[in-house]
Amino acid sequence: APTETPQVVIDAHGLPYLNAKLPVKKRVADLLSRMSLAEKAGQMTQAERAGLTTPGDIASYDLGSLLSGGGSTPTPNTAEGWARMIDGFQLQARATRFQIPLIYGVDAVHGHNNLYGATVMPHNIGIGATRDPQLAERTGAVTAAEVRATGVPWDFAPCLCVSRDERWGRSYESFGEDPALVESMETMIQGLQGRADGSDLSRADKVLATAKHFVGDGGTAYGSSTTGTYTIDQGVTTVTRQQLEDIHLAPYQSAVRRGIGTVMPSYSSLDITGDGKGAVKMHARGDMINGELKGKLGFDGFVISDWNAIDQLPGDYANQVRTAVNAGVDMMMVPYTYKDFSSTLSDEVKAGRVTEARIDDAVSRILTQKFELGLFEHPYADTSGAAAIGSPAHRAVARQAAAESQVLLKNDGGLLPLKKSEKVYVAGSDADDIGNQTGGWTLTWQGASGDTVPGTTILQGMRQAGGDVTYSKDASAPTAGYDVGVVVVGETPYAEGVGDVGNGHSLSLSAADQAAVDKVCGAMKCVVLTVSGRPQLIGDRLGEIDSLVASWLPGTEGEGVADVLYGARPFTGQLPVTWPKSESQLPINVGDASYDPQFPYGWGLTTRTTVPHGGAGTLASLAARAATAERRGDRTTGRDLVDQARLLVQQKVGQRMTAAVAKPFADGDHLLLTGHYGQALAKLAQAYRAA
Ligand code: BGC
Repeated sequence: APTETPQVVIDAHGLPYLNAKLPVKKRVADLLSRMSLAEKAGQMTQAERAGLTTPGDIASYDLGSLLSGGGSTPTPNTAEGWARMIDGFQLQARATRFQIPLIYGVDAVHGHNNLYGATVMPHNIGIGATRDPQLAERTGAVTAAEVRATGVPWDFAPCLCVSRDERWGRSYESFGEDPALVESMETMIQGLQGRADGSDLSRADKVLATAKHFVGDGGTAYGSSTTGTYTIDQGVTTVTRQQLEDIHLAPYQSAVRRGIGTVMPSYSSLDITGDGKGAVKMHARGDMINGELKGKLGFDGFVISDWNAIDQLPGDYANQVRTAVNAGVDMMMVPYTYKDFSSTLSDEVKAGRVTEARIDDAVSRILTQKFELGLFEHPYADTSGAAAIGSPAHRAVARQAAAESQVLLKNDGGLLPLKKSEKVYVAGSDADDIGNQTGGWTLTWQGASGDTVPGTTILQGMRQAGGDVTYSKDASAPTAGYDVGVVVVGETPYAEGVGDVGNGHSLSLSAADQAAVDKVCGAMKCVVLTVSGRPQLIGDRLGEIDSLVASWLPGTEGEGVADVLYGARPFTGQLPVTWPKSESQLPINVGDASYDPQFPYGWGLTTRTTVPHGGAGTLASLAARAATAERRGDRTTGRDLVDQARLLVQQKVGQRMTAAVAKPFADGDHLLLTGHYGQALAKLAQAYRAA
């Protein structure tokens, strides 16, 4: 740790709050009782580290927190660099009257994506496709270990958005369109934080997590405002009270049960049909933050605003500050306006427009997490885990996640898995591009195409798997002599907004990608992989494609994709969102009366060799066993039996995906996630009969 500067430190030693043996509650109360209003307002303030006028402002303004936000560049590119930078800031915080440590936060939304050389996981949409809660937990654990080893104790993840319209540019941050799927992937919170009671938070390999964006961020309506900007990102979610609870609030209920430490409100507005309030920005919705989250759900962590979000509230600055704080936001992410915020907040308290009790509640919540994280005892970075950053063990988890996230949508003639003896022609914009494969929030906010971070591209993975591969990015001269073509196409990186701007925000393949598909698929049998944060519209082209794989944004470990392509592992992924035929079907999800997608929610063929054979009789016996498992509350057996039935139905259905089949199939997956195995099987039986 850096040397302290004793001349500016008042010796706080001996005071009760510094006694690690006392219960956290007592320590918080003791410290709070000593703090001035300015010190309290400071604790509620989070500045961007690149926005600091001088590091000395940390002490001058008693700042409670700093972040490296998406737009924060350049960032250090070594673990040691991160640790030294944060320790330097911490040293400033330790020079305050009560030596209250800072809490430093980053967006590590798919691994420690801010650090060059870190393990980059598939984005959440791919994690949702795995349907593997244990794996989701392990990806969280790897992320936490890599993040904390660089001195960062707080991660603004995971996003619990339930994405209902894939034109939303943040769909890739969602585990999927079904709240039950999102809930089942919340094991990631345990991976990040450890035990639900917070007792693991002080470990050198755990971080405080953030559930975001509360609430309804995935439900905003698509459209253009009068100014011509798309409103789907940060737009308005219009729902009935029941829809709000069932779709968007449900994941928060389970996150609170899992002990989530912090929650970030959404930029979006919420309009609850019939409540008379109209569309109100979430940062102003006291009925939701104070009422639902802290009240009804009993959330006892703290609420951190989104970046500059209070600036979007109506009224002058004092009004914006007061509104958000009174609505229940405890800490404000005010990257460049930290001075204005803390002084305005103090003035509002002095004027009696914000009560001292509200401030004390907010500060108590923040201090509680700082104590739980062990920051008072160990304010400086513990880099003992730094050697594991990007290690083979960590990359193995990312590789498994990449493999399990692959969804085989179509496989005519069993073209996949490939055989090593086959001569394979690989083409397309995303076959050999680690930047495209990792997507947004990778080293920079928006991410970038090209050679951005260390890892293995899909092409490199195929070569490592021993494939006989010839590569041409633009599919020039796909002449004879090849057994199979593999065309990897899709999106270029983006973070927030409406998606791939270079491709006109469209869900259709770019002209160049379409040309590559046509060239290769016109010349030979072909496999098409889409590397994208959301479904890509394939339309009529589907007929000329033999095998189609949704690869999502698989991260740095392209070997994982090669594993399933070459059969080292079977394809087991299932669609986390409905795959539409055209944009005119959006928003589309299982609940729609006119549900007629290209591929239904939950769809995914398997190349598993142990698929059960049989027909209706086998299905009935699986159903009986699943009903028993359900009665016993045996989720593992129940899931496995329904999974077997699903595969049996898929064999029967083949490619004949009709609405009569699609709907029960998707409904069955939904029921499976909520533990209704008997009903899930009944739905699958219906699909079987329809086929
Ligand atoms: C995003 C948040 C993120 C924050 C800090 C905002 O633009 O909406 O998800 O946590 O920036 O980087």
